Amino acid sequence: MGIGFDLEVRTKIVDAAKRLYLRGLNSSMSGNISTRSSYRKSFWITPRSFDKASLTIEDLSLVDIETANRIMGAEPSSEYRMHLKIYMVRDDVNAIVHTHQIYTMIAHRAGLLRRELLEEDYEARAYLGGIAYVPRLEPGSLELAEAVARQLASRENVAVIMDGHGVALVGRSIDEALNRAEILEMGAMRLVNLALLGVIKV
Ligand SMILES: [Zn+2]
Repeated sequence: MGIGFDLEVRTKIVDAAKRLYLRGLNSSMSGNISTRSSYRKSFWITPRSFDKASLTIEDLSLVDIETANRIMGAEPSSEYRMHLKIYMVRDDVNAIVHTHQIYTMIAHRAGLLRRELLEEDYEARAYLGGIAYVPRLEPGSLELAEAVARQLASRENVAVIMDGHGVALVGRSIDEALNRAEILEMGAMRLVNLALLGVIKV
């Protein structure tokens, strides 16, 4: 493994982490992003407790999917097991984005994230899919990792909302997972505002 190993996907992770932070979908230390590596059965993930705005490709962690061991790089995000379990159940998923996107959480709490409401928007209909939910579970726990992976084992699902916490979104690429995070957040923003205007009922 030379220095240029997986350079493109590692650069994409760093870029996506900054974009999610700058768009306000994550705070500086929250959220995490991963993508499958070309090396064995492993994935690159953002490191634990790291300011997303100053992240570089050297800061990423490479984790083995079969052993759950870190192969190289920094200590992985505390949610690395969630990513690992998702890769184990979804061979069509190559990237995962975990956000703390606020409008999505508000819309979920208000019961607005109903498929028929979300899919009034053409982009949401085109790029999203099933959105599942898991109850309040300890962040970083194996219990949470397994509950999220169980929901995503259904190939129709593209996102899981973790009650009181945030969202995990999957894609065939980082671009697709990132786009889904943004479309879901914009859709949620639309629904929250329509509810505030009294156009739709909570
Ligand atoms: Zn989180």
